[in-house]
Amino acid sequence: MISVQEALQLINNNINKTEIVVSIPLAESLGYVLAKDIISPISMPPFRQSAMDGYALGSLEEKTFSLIGEVQAGDDKEPVLEKGEAVRIFTGAPVPSSAKAVIMQEKTETKDKQLILQETPVPNSNIRPEGEQIQKGEVALPKNTIITAAGIGYLTTLGITHIEAYQKPSIAIIATGNELIPPVQPLKHGQIYESNSVMLSSALKTSGFVNTAFYKVEDDYQATLSVLKTAIQQYDIVLISGGISVGDYDFVGKALRALEVDEIFYKVKQKPGKPLYFAKKDTTAIFALPGNPASSLSCFYMYVLPSLLKVSGYEKSHLKRDTAISNSSFIKKGERAEFLKALLQGDKVTILDGQASSMLKSFALANVMVYIPEDASEVNVGDTVQVILLP
Ligand code: AMP
Ligand code: MG
Repeated sequence: MISVQEALQLINNNINKTEIVVSIPLAESLGYVLAKDIISPISMPPFRQSAMDGYALGSLEEKTFSLIGEVQAGDDKEPVLEKGEAVRIFTGAPVPSSAKAVIMQEKTETKDKQLILQETPVPNSNIRPEGEQIQKGEVALPKNTIITAAGIGYLTTLGITHIEAYQKPSIAIIATGNELIPPVQPLKHGQIYESNSVMLSSALKTSGFVNTAFYKVEDDYQATLSVLKTAIQQYDIVLISGGISVGDYDFVGKALRALEVDEIFYKVKQKPGKPLYFAKKDTTAIFALPGNPASSLSCFYMYVLPSLLKVSGYEKSHLKRDTAISNSSFIKKGERAEFLKALLQGDKVTILDGQASSMLKSFALANVMVYIPEDASEVNVGDTVQVILLP
């Protein structure tokens, strides 16, 4: 059995950023990583723009101006302002090239088509120069930037409709187990509802991975072999749930050996999630996650999600870690590291009841996992502990 750190290292050594670059419609590019610099096709703002509702002034020395018109946002007007002349102007409207400044409306009075200033205008004040934010031909966003909502908004202001990004992996989720049925029919004695696939696909969706397919397979060697063979051929990442332990009906390990995958590790000194298995076959990465739901999900967050992010071009792909003061005490039995479902509020963290690997209620209420390293034996109230923030 290897340690958590060794498992993370081995996965990291065996997972590489994809070399496949794809063109993605900007509106669908959330969470993608830019594979190339984006060069701005226009200057922004594209014209000299008013930053205020007020008046554009033809000169700076006068106190009183005659009002000769109006420019609204969206207008294509270019009134020529002489000395002592002004036009009403609004935020976002094009400022006439003859204007020397825009004065805020709050700093003025109007009387009989005359504008009276209450303060001396500063040259070019309240005017956004053309290209103030970015000039045509400059780098709008550099390679390796992760596209966020703000990024999508920003690139849209530049008229960009597609980006070149690292391809996100395709993912197969395979649930194994005779006892599992879909949650649409009543349970017979001995059955439970299959929950890992929808849980994992939801966790994938949270992080922007939607290219997923689902397979359900009975605890049967031939059936397991055939589903795994297809999935390994067709997907970049194969996530198997259950069937990787040592029971007589756990056929995942045997099937993967028959398919001659390269086993990288099996079993990690951790709780939950001891039977985690990781292998590669050509470029496909295969994770066999223990079937117990909380084990599956902690292994997903600790090992699978960082791998998916790394494949997709993320430089920092692990979940964020922090420290917090424990509100709870906890005694760790045994030598495995533990991931405990917990609730972080401010800088205090409470370890939740119900930590068994079969239980999900604590996970459903948690916002962090408290990480107890292998060599620690207990946590007391007031101790500083490491927390791993859940997405
Ligand atoms: P296994 O790893 O196949 O030995 O399964 C361990 C435990 O997790 C058993 O109690 C299974 O019934 C349960 N389990 C396995 N797969 C799922 C699943 N997809 N959804 C819900 N529970 C599961
Ligand atoms: Mg099973």
